[in-house]
Parts: sequence; C-alpha cells; structure tokens
Amino acid sequence: MSDELGGHKSNQYRENRPWQDLDQMLSVDEAKARILSSIDVCPSEPVALIDCHGLVLFEDVAAIEDVPPFRNSAMDGYALNAEDVRSATYESPVVLAIVENLPAGRSPERTPGPGEATRIMTGAVMPEGTDSVVRFEETSEARDAADLPSERSATVEICRAPRVGDNVREAGEDIRAGEIVLHAGTILDGTSLGILASVNRPHVLAIRRPKVGILATGDEVVDPGEPISPGQIRNSNNFMLAGLVREAGGDPLVLGVARDTESALRERLEEAQGFDLLLTSGGVSIGDYDVVKDVLKSEGNIDLWQVRIKPGKPMAFGHIRDIPLIGLPGNPVAAYVAFLQFGAPAIRKMRGLKDASVNCERARLLREHENRGHRRHFVRGIVSEVAGELIVEPVPVQGSGVLSSVARANCLFVIPEELDHAPAGLEVDVIRRAKTDW
Ligand code: AMP
Ligand code: MG
Repeated sequence: MSDELGGHKSNQYRENRPWQDLDQMLSVDEAKARILSSIDVCPSEPVALIDCHGLVLFEDVAAIEDVPPFRNSAMDGYALNAEDVRSATYESPVVLAIVENLPAGRSPERTPGPGEATRIMTGAVMPEGTDSVVRFEETSEARDAADLPSERSATVEICRAPRVGDNVREAGEDIRAGEIVLHAGTILDGTSLGILASVNRPHVLAIRRPKVGILATGDEVVDPGEPISPGQIRNSNNFMLAGLVREAGGDPLVLGVARDTESALRERLEEAQGFDLLLTSGGVSIGDYDVVKDVLKSEGNIDLWQVRIKPGKPMAFGHIRDIPLIGLPGNPVAAYVAFLQFGAPAIRKMRGLKDASVNCERARLLREHENRGHRRHFVRGIVSEVAGELIVEPVPVQGSGVLSSVARANCLFVIPEELDHAPAGLEVDVIRRAKTDW
C-alpha cells in the first residue's frame, strides 16, 4: 500500500501501474469542466403550472392585469364614507342605514349615500362613494352578534371614526398591470407558483427536467425482491442514484441491470431512448471494464478516465447516440461521491441553473485524517456547530463499499489532493448531505 501511496513519482511505479499514473489522471475540476462543457441545457416547453415546482422559468412573466383587479375590502365590516362618521366614538356612536349586504364575488348594486353604509365581506368590491371600512368589532354588530344573521338590523352603530383608506385594498396594490412579476431564470418555488396563478398563467414556459436513465452493470448484481444466489449482492446503486437524481432535480428512470456481456449491455443501451443523460454504475474499473468499454465505444464515443478523486477514481464519460453518459464506479460509496461531483452538476446545468456547483461550507477539522494517494478525498463526516463555529469529524468507517457510513454521516468533507495528511484544526470544505436541491 505504502508503495502505491508514497511512491507515485517513481518510475518503477509508473511501469507497473501505468493506468494509475497521476500525471495522466484528470483532476476533479478538469473532469467536471470536461463533462459540463459537453452538457446542454434542456429545451424549454409550456408546462402546466401545477407541474412547475423546481423548474427554471424560461420567460419574463408580466402581469396582464392589476392584482387585486379591483378595490376591495380587507375586512368584514361596513363600507362607508369616513367623513360621515367623523364624530363616532364608543360613547357616542353614529347610526347609519344599511343599504346592502355584500359578499365577496358579487358586484355592488347600491351606492351608499350620506348616512348610509354597505355591510361588506372581506374581498368584496368597495361600492362607489365609500372610502373606508369599519370592522364589525367596532360597530354594534359586535354587541348584537348573538342576534345574527336571522334578525339583522336595518341600521348599524359605528363606534369608531376610520381614516380614509382604512381596511381598503386598492386595485393593483399587490401587482400592477404590465409589471414583470418573475424573471427568466427564476427557480419556481411554491410562492412563485402562487404569483403565476394570481396573474392568470395556467402554463408558463419552463426548462423541462432532464430525463436521466440509470443502468447498473454486473453479473453479481440482483434487484431487491429477486431470488439471489451465493456470490450475488443487492443492486443498491440504481435505487440510490434514482433518489440522488431526483434530489438534483432530474427525472430518473431505472433501466435495470445489464449483465457483464457485450450483447446484454448493447441491448440495454439500444433500449435507452429519449434520455438527456445516462448514468451507468460498475464495470469501469481496470479489472473488468473491457466489455463495457468495447460496447460503449462501438455504440458511441466513450473516454475512460482515471480521476484524482477518492473514492470514485475510475469512471467513464462520453456519448451514446448523442446522449451524454457518465459511467460511475460500482462501489456504492464511490458511485455516490462521483455522482455528487459530476452527475449532480450535469443535471443542475441541464435544468438551466446558473450555478451548477453544489453548496459548500467551511468547517474546522476536529481530528486529523490521512489522505495518501494524492487524490481529492471526500471523507464521510459529521458536521456540527459548537460555540458558533462549524466543526467536522470523520465517521469511523470509510470503506468505499460501506454505504451505511454515508447514511451515518451528515456531510462529506474535502481534503485537497496536495495534502497527504490533514491535521486537526485544518479548515476544510464541507458538503452537507442534501435532502433536496431547491
Ligand atoms: P465494479 O466497478 O463493477 O468492479 O464494481 C465494484 C464493486 O461494486 C463490486 O464489489 C460490485 O459488486 C459492486 N457493485 C457494482 N454494481 C453495484 C450495484 N448496482 N449495487 C451495489 N454494488 C454494486
Ligand atoms: Mg462489475
């Protein structure tokens, strides 16, 4: 081990393990840049508003009309002319005649004159000639509530003098006709959908979610629920990746497991139509990639790469019938790390996000950690805040097949490739384990 780790510059090492030559390995940043440079933003299309959550808006949306569209009452009460009740107090209320009882959704039929008021509900149109609303609580209705509604009086006592405009919502006070309410590039969240509905947009032009096909490879890999033979393992990658794709804002479709033969893989890839991105897992490490590589090469153009990343070093990238394909490593933790570094940014770019990168924070490393091998090391860790400072420590088990350790961790922290040892106290980048991506 120490030879592999410490002696990377020696000629003997290069001759014995040419495929691991550090000089020929891409850095994480180079690999990411290469992938992102050949990823296109998905096309935009009209999308029904209810399906727009998390999508990126592709048009500037202007209001066609005022919101609210008419002057209306902000309270249940009495619409009146403030001047009429200027002297009103609890001790000496002003009595007004009620000309109409006006619910929301109906136009006023009467215009209250001097000494008159309209009984009005929240959201109802303010009648002509009224300039304010006095709440029920400030009228005799509060006192007489027990009699309502069957024996409603023809008059009301107003106990408080409103100012002009009290409890009135002006037309356009929320949004003016012509105003741009949301700009192209906005990530549509719940509030945005409400705003779009309020300006009468049942559909908007949005960038559609990338459709991502997910294919596992391996004779030993068996889906959960299927019979299993000695030597076989459960297919965790497809399910993990489907979840991670969704968390990154993509639309995943699981394509099953391809056996480690050329014909099986070719068949599966031929079936994979209509995708914006394909993710495979397994079959790209030096021990067994030959079949995979040959098929991928004959079906499209695929480069096999070694990336200076730990875990997740062996991976492939290329195109199958113009569909970009990221060949992730088979080990679940390596697939997880490589997906977060390369798959998630690709999906974010396809969604039309301006910043494809995944959020990072800085934290202080609580305990030292090794990083032999000159690769960027993504260590499973637990990040927490102590006395206002973020600190992070590695979880005890770090094997690249131990997926449960990802679940036990709440982040990945990053030891740069230049450091073969991260001392306690070092400030490191931390990527929290995200539940969602918007
Ligand atoms: P490979 O890169 O194909 O050599 O796989 C590396 C390791 O990951 C092996 O131990 C495989 O059994 C395991 N592996 C490959 N694919 C999967 C999968 N879909 N789910 C879980 N483990 C896998
Ligand atoms: Mg395999």
